[in-house]
Amino acid sequence: MINFNRPPFTGNEEKYLIQAMKSLKISGDGAFTQRCHRWFEERLACEKVLLTTSCTHALEMTAILIDIQPGDEVIMPSYTFVSTANAYALRGAKIVFVDVRPDTMNIDETLIEDAITEKTKAIVPVHYAGVACEMDTIMEIANRHKLFVIEDAAQGMMSSYKGKALGTIGHFGTFSFHETKNYTSGGEGGLLIINDESFITPAEIIREKGTNRSQFFRGMVDKYSWVDIGSSYLMNDLSAAYLWGQLDIADEINDERVGHWKVYYEGLSGLNKKGLIELPTVPDSCVHNAHMYYIRVKDLNERTNLIEHLKAHDIHAVFHYVPLHSAPAGIKFGTFSGTDTYTTTESEKLIRLPLYYGIKQEELESVIEAIKDYYA
Ligand SMILES: *Cc1c(COP(=O)(O)O)cnc(C)c1O
Repeated sequence: MINFNRPPFTGNEEKYLIQAMKSLKISGDGAFTQRCHRWFEERLACEKVLLTTSCTHALEMTAILIDIQPGDEVIMPSYTFVSTANAYALRGAKIVFVDVRPDTMNIDETLIEDAITEKTKAIVPVHYAGVACEMDTIMEIANRHKLFVIEDAAQGMMSSYKGKALGTIGHFGTFSFHETKNYTSGGEGGLLIINDESFITPAEIIREKGTNRSQFFRGMVDKYSWVDIGSSYLMNDLSAAYLWGQLDIADEINDERVGHWKVYYEGLSGLNKKGLIELPTVPDSCVHNAHMYYIRVKDLNERTNLIEHLKAHDIHAVFHYVPLHSAPAGIKFGTFSGTDTYTTTESEKLIRLPLYYGIKQEELESVIEAIKDYYA
């Protein structure tokens, strides 16, 4: 069986985990958390990062930070993971979905302005498959309308837009270290990237149960107390140690994935030239991290058949998001702005192929052969 995914494992995790276990500080903000924080701040060239329990929680933190109130509106694509919307719905926001561009499956930046009302508070672009949204346009619109931009870069670690790391362009960015992402902190984990200095202290407070404990530990206040609403959003240091085992060789992991992505791209280009399948598009403005390799086929029926065909060849390929605006909670908490030209139809055509750190060349080749065989 060729799995769809295997969580990244480098072999370095073990020694750091044991080191963390033997330290006397395994809760949040221990030694490995601090190492990871420094690594990200340098690597991303950003103001401040905070490891969190998940990307979902990092998104929830941004909803509290920008003070979402019931009735506020938040703009995002419908073609995304539930957490992108849920984080804001949780605080009473109305979710306003905008159609995607058919080339990248990212939010169509040219449709955002029509979705803005006096209640709009934020735009949440999702960098699908680690390929950047058109951020210059999105930031220009947001600045003109004084809106916050939160980049859901759950899939975007190591990707960039015009030389800037994804997650560092909007007011906030979030990463996920879930086992399905390019780097994992041992199953679950996330990162909040804070690009506006004025939000650093409030973010530390929200992450520490609404207390100013972080400042207390730095000696900035002489006792800590409950100062605002918050929750417990800190990653434990064992998870940070696991993640450190991967940051150690982050470039090696990225280069390998990009290599796999290219094998698929080249191997499937013949079927693309014949007009049988569509391959992913990466705009010139974006350097991507090969988070995912997907193809698009004729329609839903063909997708179901191809997935079955691959399964019969012991290959696990999967489809992706059911658009949120057609899900029960999406209907309850959201509304679609304009027309759904591409979101539903394009999402129904999309299949993701096995791609992970450690997949073998011959496995990639068998997937390509099996797809060719389907169309033969
Ligand atoms: C994975 C993912 C999330 C959620 O990440 P968790 O760390 O599992 O909470 C959110 N948004 C997108 C686009 C994702 O791909």
